[in-house]
Amino acid sequence: FNKLWGHENVDLLQTPNILPQTKIEPPKVSLGQDFLDAANCSPDIFRCTITKIPESNSLLQKSRLPFGILIHPFKDLEHLPVIQCSTIVRCRACRTYINPFVFFVDAKRWKCNLCYRLNELPEEFQYDPVSKTYGDPSRRPEIKSSTIEYIAPSEYMLRPPQPAVYLFLIDVSKAAVDSGYLQTLCTVLASNLSSLPGDARTQIGVLAYNSALHFYSLADGLNQPHEMTVLDIDDVFLPCPDNLLVNLSERKELILDLLTQLPNRFKNSYDSHSALGAALQAAHKLIGPTGGRVTVFQAALPNKGPGALSPREDPNKRSAADVQHLNPANDFYKRLALECSGQQIAVDLFIINSQYIDLATISGISRFSGGSIYHFPLFNVSRLVDNEKFERCLKRYLTRKIGFEAVMRIRCTRGLTIHTFHGNFFVRSTDLLSLPNVNPDAGFGMQIAIEESLSELQTVCFQAALLYTSSKGERRIRVHTLCIPVASTLTDIINSADQQCIVGLLSKMAVDRSLQSSLSDAREAFLNVAIDVLASYRLSLNVDNNSSGLLAPNCLKLLPLYISALLKHPAFRTGTATRLDDRIKAMCDMKSLPLYLLIQQIYPDLYPVHNLEEQEVTKNQEGEEVPQPLRLQLSARSLDSKGAYLMDQGDSMILYIGPSISIDFLASIFGVSDYNAISDEICELPLWDNPRSQRLNMFINYLNDEKPFPVVLQVIKDNSPNRHLFIERLLEDRVENALSYHEFLQHLKTQVK
Ligand SMILES: [Zn+2]
Repeated sequence: FNKLWGHENVDLLQTPNILPQTKIEPPKVSLGQDFLDAANCSPDIFRCTITKIPESNSLLQKSRLPFGILIHPFKDLEHLPVIQCSTIVRCRACRTYINPFVFFVDAKRWKCNLCYRLNELPEEFQYDPVSKTYGDPSRRPEIKSSTIEYIAPSEYMLRPPQPAVYLFLIDVSKAAVDSGYLQTLCTVLASNLSSLPGDARTQIGVLAYNSALHFYSLADGLNQPHEMTVLDIDDVFLPCPDNLLVNLSERKELILDLLTQLPNRFKNSYDSHSALGAALQAAHKLIGPTGGRVTVFQAALPNKGPGALSPREDPNKRSAADVQHLNPANDFYKRLALECSGQQIAVDLFIINSQYIDLATISGISRFSGGSIYHFPLFNVSRLVDNEKFERCLKRYLTRKIGFEAVMRIRCTRGLTIHTFHGNFFVRSTDLLSLPNVNPDAGFGMQIAIEESLSELQTVCFQAALLYTSSKGERRIRVHTLCIPVASTLTDIINSADQQCIVGLLSKMAVDRSLQSSLSDAREAFLNVAIDVLASYRLSLNVDNNSSGLLAPNCLKLLPLYISALLKHPAFRTGTATRLDDRIKAMCDMKSLPLYLLIQQIYPDLYPVHNLEEQEVTKNQEGEEVPQPLRLQLSARSLDSKGAYLMDQGDSMILYIGPSISIDFLASIFGVSDYNAISDEICELPLWDNPRSQRLNMFINYLNDEKPFPVVLQVIKDNSPNRHLFIERLLEDRVENALSYHEFLQHLKTQVK
């Protein structure tokens, strides 16, 4: 009977190979009507932890499932309907944008699907310019697609659209100079200046800092940039009113000149101080009038002037169960972020550190201003993989789309309320997020509560509206609408669970728990979710209490696997030495990565790649055949010493080569005849004129196509010094102080009553 309804279950203890070998598709939201299903929002953009909404809070509580949505609102899209109209049709009561899930009472009136108010349709909406007839409003793009972008009329602007403004804050302390990142930064920035999003109004500025602030005047007529050093950093002022921020196209030569000089300018400086706080205050003064984007490159602990910090981490306690100093040491960076947010300034951090930098404190500047955080731990320019990672990430950052002066509002059907937001932003009012910048790589999460009974409803809807200024100075509104049916039985609710979305939301909740309470509480909460969900499922099945086995519904069969992986993740693990900054960065990622990248960080994809010629193929966008190896569990038992394995971790890939790999493979992939001749210092595979090399390169490119940019591939041999990077991700195996997946299940079994 259960099979008939697609409600199969799995005895986890009897199923060691639980991971599907092919891509895990998100569960489908079924509205039961084909045309509405087709119009629903893509799960790549908008996803709910359950694909059927419980009709009451008590039913939700019984299911023990977390309820929330994840959204990737500014994702790069290939097809986006953009419309320009004189009136944007919105509900007069709750301001919801007209969408595919509204009800048409007749050709002139529509009923809002969020608050149920009856609204008039404007004439314009009823008229079809193609057939030159009135009537059928359902042909409109607003009704056909749940993702749409409007070019906003003037009432959506508080002031004329701001130009694109970019300010680069560059740490030039001794630690920064020693890491060698300056040369790479200046080279990549110089070669991408013309690709920065913007138009003829784009402005740019550069500010360097160590124990002092170094401003650069780029005035018209100068034959080279004029440096002005401000030594008094306790009361920051700008050394001149103009020409610190200049028009990019008019002063391009001067900027290029500056980027050429900078790496050498501080080469012989032994200044070990870094006045980040003062530099940020100066940035705030400098671009406050317009707003824009501040990009910080920070290599040392800020140890001078306002916002100065002292080292807090005890390196001897990196593997302790009780982790200290997860919270900020002071509120300087958070307070400054809120001031920046008020003036439409977002601050992004590139952390290039070799020592403790107190990311827990300085990350506040990005978290509360809608910024992004990138981390290059132990960076040294002489290591090819380090340098290549930094270069590629920076190039994507500089060239990707950007929205300025943005706000995002999430509306939901009456009876539902959003109670907690996750991501980088400032919450301006209960459902309005202030985003001084919005970028296409940022994800957000929201926890939702059921406040009133939904039993009268067939469906509920969520609508996200993102209002922003494009880099071309246009005010635009991107709207996404997700519709989900309501259900009334526990079995229905449990079987509608979206396990990946649940894991995404749980990981955000666990970060909050770690900061507000403790890491051990967060770890315990993960465990309790697994226990509660399986116990409530057992209850819903009415199975005999004495029966053996650990049953999970098919839709939640990976939840224990993901949770056991999360307990070993750098964000939440104990027992393994983890640098505090690395842990904080992992937590920042949990809060702000889009779901597909987050899942790959939690449980990477592992593929055998030594026998690609034997695999099924699929066609890529160019119509070429790409091999599709079946995915492997993350365990040493998946590996063979004669094999080669590709691990896709989302933001990087590892190619692990077994010690007994065939000579043929070495020759055709690396062009060498000896295992030890494979270099540890390559970050991209060579492409040779043979089928094996072409197939492997094709597969790697195919995986890269899904990502925001092609990531670095690190080759690891069994005797490589960095072999542990691969081995520690075999997450199902037992390691010191952490259970294997099987032991974890056995522990769950004793707890699920
Ligand atoms: Zn309404």
